[in-house]
Amino acid sequence: MTEFFASVTPDSLLAATAAFFGFLLVLFLGSRILPGTNLLGVRNADGSQISYRLNGFLLWLILVAVCALGTYKQLFSLGFLHTHFASLLVVVNIFAFTTTVLLYLKARGKKEELRSGPLGVIQDMFFGAELNPSLFGVDLKMFSYRPSLMGLGLLNVSFAVVQYQKYGFISQAMCIYQIFYFLYLCNYFQFEYGMVYTWDIIAEKFGWMLVWGDYVLVPFFYSLPGWYLVDRTEALPTWAIAGLAVLYTTGFILFRGSNEQKHQYKHNPKATIWGKPAETVGGKLLVSGFWGIGRKLNYTGELLMYSAWSLTTGFESVVPYILPLWLLCLFTHRAWRDEQRCAEKYGPLWKEYCARASFRMFPFLY
Ligand code: NDP
Repeated sequence: MTEFFASVTPDSLLAATAAFFGFLLVLFLGSRILPGTNLLGVRNADGSQISYRLNGFLLWLILVAVCALGTYKQLFSLGFLHTHFASLLVVVNIFAFTTTVLLYLKARGKKEELRSGPLGVIQDMFFGAELNPSLFGVDLKMFSYRPSLMGLGLLNVSFAVVQYQKYGFISQAMCIYQIFYFLYLCNYFQFEYGMVYTWDIIAEKFGWMLVWGDYVLVPFFYSLPGWYLVDRTEALPTWAIAGLAVLYTTGFILFRGSNEQKHQYKHNPKATIWGKPAETVGGKLLVSGFWGIGRKLNYTGELLMYSAWSLTTGFESVVPYILPLWLLCLFTHRAWRDEQRCAEKYGPLWKEYCARASFRMFPFLY
């Protein structure tokens, strides 16, 4: 740990600050300026609806193109992110905590959003006070997924760059890891519209939990397996490559398939799912497709994908496996929390739905 933070010098902090805020500014301006389809979000309690400009995919493609060109022409090296990882972690943490306080202060103008009681301020900072804060017309909750996931993508690539600089080639395991992550990120931004119906966007207020999760946890912790891949240079057996591909593809189908089915249904209740009109419980809860088998197969799918990229590191260390283990805890708790909300919202319909789709994430287990 001491060794890890030894790289945090004033010069490194300065460079990390410039890089982080430059990156954030470019993404914010891109989100504000670039064209994209406008999609109305769910109707809020006060009847209002937010219009989201979906230009994340274009922004992501531009970022990928600029980074690829810059690396090819040797204008800059993404290895910078690896070298200054600890300083970036410090800077982004300071940013996340400061933003939490600023968001709280902003929400104080709207007293009806605040919690009362002695712990009200702490809760408002932790869980957030405002549901949909925005800046210059950009919804901050939706925007924050961009620095979060694009930052994760760049940090991941920095591990490949460092491996190349160190060994003069990129290993099979590293290639597979990069391909898996690249597909996941492309897919996320291509189907960015699906975010509009996710629990975070609909129901979670924007406070420390989401801010720190987006800006710190996702890029810095989710890139954990990358550290272990830098020095894992041996070739993988064919059976391991095939196994990883099957695991990842299964996860991908469950994850994207179920999210897409829910999106299609919410957007158009008469949508066709697996060749038949969407079937529902009480006209409100989808029981067609994956949603009729398990109630949270989107979580199961994502967990399989994360397991696949941890498995690329082999079995020399358990540390990369902390990531899927963490997600398992997060998703089991989240599934339980979401179901509390749904049980309250849908009442007897939710019970009926649970009888139809009898498990959440794993048949017979959970
Ligand atoms: P869901 O996409 O499952 O959304 C939950 C909401 O969907 C519920 O609150 C309810 O909202 C609605 N819903 C639930 N069941 C049904 C049904 N049968 N028919 C119709 N609507 C239903 O969960 P999340 O928003 O938590 O997750 C979205 C994605 O994000 C997932 O794929 C997950 O894996 C991913 N994720 C990834 C994380 C990570 O760290 N990598 C962290 C969190 C999520 P309503 O009130 O609208 O009906």
